[in-house]
Amino acid sequence: MVSILAHATRVWPEQKDGGKSVREEQRGRSAQAGDVPRGDVPWQPASVAPVDERFMRLALEEARLAAAEGEVPIGAVVVCDGEVIACGHNRRERDLDPSAHAEFSAMLRASRALGRWRLTGCTVYVTVEPCLMCAGLMVNARVDRCVFGASDPKGGALGTLYDVSHDPRLNHEFEVVPHVLAGECAFELRRFFRARRRLRRKPAEAKAAGPR
Ligand SMILES: [Zn+2]
Repeated sequence: MVSILAHATRVWPEQKDGGKSVREEQRGRSAQAGDVPRGDVPWQPASVAPVDERFMRLALEEARLAAAEGEVPIGAVVVCDGEVIACGHNRRERDLDPSAHAEFSAMLRASRALGRWRLTGCTVYVTVEPCLMCAGLMVNARVDRCVFGASDPKGGALGTLYDVSHDPRLNHEFEVVPHVLAGECAFELRRFFRARRRLRRKPAEAKAAGPR
């Protein structure tokens, strides 16, 4: 079933002063920043539904769990009828599994919890824009909505590099609400990568300093 809401409710931030869209600006800044989206730019939607913010905060908690396990901090929750039915965080390194993305795992768990492969009626909250694999699973699982935090300039498939949510060639479309708590979601990534770079630099610094 094609979501009636799909076309009506997709909201990207509006043009900024000077004619450059927030998305263009974000993309440019992110490209300079390397492999993580930047979170210190004001490209969050003008208004966020309190319920979306509440569930995104739960996804952020999942992202922090991933960081505590040494994984890139991305978290997700799946909500059905106003209740969290599944959650997940990135476990690619731990599980040695290229499919162990936060939202992918959460959707598999949601299907098991509901006892059906169709996730009709469900919203997936994820701290970073889904990749092609996860956005593809959203199509196959027939989700109603995806709410994401930070855009991913190197892999985002819900508007940044591709838009799998609104491709008329596919047999399902779904609503997307981008940039909810984007700053906080991106901050978790920046903090993680900054700490990792610091750890990697340490041996080199010790060597440069020589024997004391
Ligand atoms: Zn993914």
